[in-house]
Amino acid sequence: MNDAPLNNFWADSAPGEAGPRPALTGHHEADVAIIGAGLTGLWTAYYLKTLSPDLVIRVLEAERVGHGASGRNGGWVIGSLAGLSRLVDGLSRDERRACCRMLADNVEAIGATLAREGIEAEFHKGGAIYAAARYPGQEAIQRAYLEHLHALGHAEEACYWLDAAELAERAHFRNARGGVFQRDCATVHPLKLLRGLAGRLEAMGVTIHEQSRVRSRHPRGVTTESGHLRAEVTVSATEGYCAGLAEMQRYVLPVQSQVIATEPLSASHWAEIGMDGRPAFADASRLVNYGHRTADDRLVFGARGNYRLGGRPTWGQAIPASAVTLRRDLLVDLFPALEGVKITHGWGGSLGLSRRFRPHALLDRASGLATAGGYAGEGVAASHLFARTLADMILERDTDLTRMPWAMGDTRPSHGLRRWEPEPFRWLAARLISLSYAGEEALMRRERSLGIVRPALARLNDAFASIIE
Ligand SMILES: Cc1cc2nc3c(=O)[nH]c(=O)nc-3n(C[C@H](O)[C@H](O)[C@H](O)COP(=O)(O)OP(=O)(O)OC[C@H]3O[C@@H](n4cnc5c(N)ncnc54)[C@H](O)[C@@H]3O)c2cc1C
Repeated sequence: MNDAPLNNFWADSAPGEAGPRPALTGHHEADVAIIGAGLTGLWTAYYLKTLSPDLVIRVLEAERVGHGASGRNGGWVIGSLAGLSRLVDGLSRDERRACCRMLADNVEAIGATLAREGIEAEFHKGGAIYAAARYPGQEAIQRAYLEHLHALGHAEEACYWLDAAELAERAHFRNARGGVFQRDCATVHPLKLLRGLAGRLEAMGVTIHEQSRVRSRHPRGVTTESGHLRAEVTVSATEGYCAGLAEMQRYVLPVQSQVIATEPLSASHWAEIGMDGRPAFADASRLVNYGHRTADDRLVFGARGNYRLGGRPTWGQAIPASAVTLRRDLLVDLFPALEGVKITHGWGGSLGLSRRFRPHALLDRASGLATAGGYAGEGVAASHLFARTLADMILERDTDLTRMPWAMGDTRPSHGLRRWEPEPFRWLAARLISLSYAGEEALMRRERSLGIVRPALARLNDAFASIIE
C-alpha cells in the first residue's frame, strides 16, 4: 500500500500535451464564448461548429483542457441519468420511453462520433453490472432499482436481472446474490477523449484559450484577467467548478468524489475476478462504489466523497491516504483476491449537483447565457447529450432534443433553476445525509443482529435526502 499523494491515472496514461495554449489577451469578438474546457464545453463547441461551420467560437479555460471533473472521472459512459425521475415526472409512458431511448442511444452515439473523428479513447461498450454482493440487504435494493429503471421508461431488454450463476459468468464478486445488468453503458479513457476532441476542434477552427479564467460575465461578453471577449452567447460549462462565477454557483453544488487505480492485474487475478467482457460494475451502496477494467488491465474504482463548507471545489487532484485506503478496502471487500495488489493512483475532483437533482440545459436568450450541468456524477455521457441540446437551442433548431425534459429554452436561470440554501444549512444537510448513509451501510452489514433498527434508519435517511430533493 502506497502513501499518498498519488496521481491521476488518466493524466499519467494519456499522451502528453505541449505547453499551455495561449491565454486570451486584449479585446476579441466571437459568436459564442464557452467557459470551461471539459466535456460540456468541448462537445457544445463541437456540435455548434458541426451544425454551423461559419460560427466563430472561443473556449476559455481557467487551467488546461480537462482540468475539471471531465479529466478526472471514473470513465463510466452510462445510458441513464441521475435525476431522471424528477425530469420524467408527469410524462406519459411513451414520452418516458422516448427519453430513455435517447439516453441509451447516446452511448452508441458517443462511440460512433469518436470513431468518425478518429479519436482513440478506449471506448468500450461492455454494459454495467449493479451487483448485490456485499451483504444480503443489497439484493432487495437492486431489485427495487431494476423496477425503478423500468418505471422510468428503460426497456426491459436493456435492463434485466442476473441470477447468481448468470452474474458469475460475467464477474466474480464475493457472495454475489445476483444483480442488475444495464446494457447501455460503456467505459472510456476520459482524458484521451478530451484531448482528442480539443485537437479536432482546433482543426475545425475553434480557438481554445488555456489559463484564461473568466472573472465576470455580462450580457454579450466575458472578462478574463488579461482579455475581454464580446460574444452574442456565452456558455457556462463549469459544472462542479462554478465557484467564482457568481451567476452559477447558487444553482450548482460541488460535491467531492474520489477514485483509485490498481497496478495492471495479472492473468491469475483476472481468472479469479472474471470481467472478460470489461463491464462497468457497482454495488448497491448509497456511497456509490463503482469501477471498471481498463484497457491496460487495471481496475479503476471510485466512491463518492464529501461536501466542503462553502461549496469549495477540489482544484488539486491529490487525495489523503485515508481516502485511498477506504476505497482499497471497499474494492478488496468486493474482490478478496485483490488483497495485496498495489494501488498506483488516487485522485479526486468535484461534480455538480442541482437543487432537486435536476440536470439542465438552459438558454436565456435575453442575457445571452447558456448552461448545462447538474449531472450528479453521471455527466460523462449526459454532457454529450446536453451539449447537443444546447447547440440546437442556441441555433434555434426545433429537434427531438429541444423537446426533452432537460431542455429549458428561453428561460432565465432564476426561473428555471432552484437555488441552494445558504451556508451552513447546505453543509449541515450534506453532513447528516452522509452520516446516515454510512450508518445505514454499517447496519446493513450486520443485518441479522440489527434488523429492527434498519427500517428506522432507512426512514431517517430518506427524510434527510428529501431536505435537498
Ligand atoms: C472523481 C469523479 C468521478 C466521476 N466519475 C464519473 C463517471 O464514472 N461517469 C460519469 O458519467 N460521471 C462521472 N463524474 C462526473 C463527470 O465527470 C462530470 O459530471 C462531467 O465531467 C462534467 O463535465 P463539465 O464539462 O460540465 O465540467 P468539468 O469537467 O468540471 O469542467 C469545468 C471546467 O471549467 C473550468 N472553469 C471553472 N471556472 C472557470 C472560469 N471562471 N473560467 C474559465 N474556466 C473555468 C474548470 O477548470 C474545468 O476545466 C465524476 C466526477 C468526478 C469528480
